[in-house]
Amino acid sequence: MNELVILGATGSIGRNTLEIAEKFPDRFRVRALTGKDNFDLLAEQVARFSPDIAVVYDENGAGILQKKLPAGCRTRILCGDEGYAAAATHPDATMVVSAMVGGAGLLPTLAAIEAGKDIALANKETLVMAGSLVMAAATVAGVRILPVDSEHSAIFQCIAGNHVKDLEKIVLTASGGPFLGRDASGFADITVADALAHPTWQMGAKITIDSATMMNKGLEVIEAMHLFGMPPGAIEVLIHPQSIVHSMVAFRDGSVIAQMGIPDMKGAIAHALSYPERLPIGIEPPDFAAIGRLDFQAPDFAKFPCIKLAYRACEAGGTMPAVLNAANEIAVAFFLEKKIGFDRIPRLIEETMHRHRIVSEPALEEILSADRWARRTARQIVETTGGKETE
Ligand code: NAD
Ligand code: MG
Repeated sequence: MNELVILGATGSIGRNTLEIAEKFPDRFRVRALTGKDNFDLLAEQVARFSPDIAVVYDENGAGILQKKLPAGCRTRILCGDEGYAAAATHPDATMVVSAMVGGAGLLPTLAAIEAGKDIALANKETLVMAGSLVMAAATVAGVRILPVDSEHSAIFQCIAGNHVKDLEKIVLTASGGPFLGRDASGFADITVADALAHPTWQMGAKITIDSATMMNKGLEVIEAMHLFGMPPGAIEVLIHPQSIVHSMVAFRDGSVIAQMGIPDMKGAIAHALSYPERLPIGIEPPDFAAIGRLDFQAPDFAKFPCIKLAYRACEAGGTMPAVLNAANEIAVAFFLEKKIGFDRIPRLIEETMHRHRIVSEPALEEILSADRWARRTARQIVETTGGKETE
């Protein structure tokens, strides 16, 4: 029996995870669920799965959730950082699904690792911010980090049975997002609704905007670097609009292995939950005759500068990837609130990175401090320039 904790249960990955858990009750038991402020959905999930613990963002929210639960409900309602940590380290849990969005995922994921839980990792920001510390902690604790991000799940599957020393290159595929074919001169006019309309994947708002700017791929380069111990120069991004090839690896004999499937996150989630077994989750293989062709093209770094910023952050190292991540979170939030235009997102991140003084080989506290600094700085830049920082 896999005893699950789901951090970010009310999100896109969380809901998909619960669908799988519900389908295989003899394999999975849900021990703890966390959300932020989607109380109706969390209450419904608590009723369906009877976890020992449910966690929300603050005390006020805990009161709201409690009122939505039937009298006699045995689930303990907790809140805040302590609540998230209690869920992540639930004594009976065997696996923690890390599916909160953003930097909020780092500390609970790290707590779960230190408590000896295997991790099904969707929250890529954890590795972007503190990849070296997190991977080292996993080694010390002897826990597995099983990737849920579809590209990294693909790479994990492609590498299986091979020697890592024979691996020459990782090829991360990218759909290119909704603006692949749009001229960059029109990027200032992109609306929030345009950017939220992803052509192939159904995801939460933040990662959907990251896909539209292609920062998502940049974050994934950093994630791959840590998960697979490869230098950024050996990680390539390739546009593949159909999202059928989820990623590939090239070996030193010129052979390439790709993992394919229809774009449905349940495939990668189920793989992480049941590894090394595979579950009959009801997903059909792609109908290649109907698809007809698979297209590939090189990314346009000038049009999507976020990818370049991410490579630059990993080359700079130290606290810079955490700054990239934090500035991106602020830029995306401001774009969603219509405070800055779509074309300003990379400029705000670049300006924040430009002002940062890197701490090399940072300890956790220094990473968290760089994260706070970058959020403050990005906000200040927008306040003082009205979002027109580098005109
Ligand atoms: P989402 O926005 O749909 O869900 C996020 C979850 O985190 C929700 O449960 C929300 O309540 C919770 N949350 C948000 N802010 C929080 C905070 N400050 N404290 C505690 N909880 C908080 O996001 P998603 O699309 O499910 O993505 C989750 C993570 O998985 C992200 O890191 C994303 O990059 C990664 N990921 C998602 C997909 C996908 O298909 N959705 C694919 C690959 C990777
Ligand atoms: Mg991905």
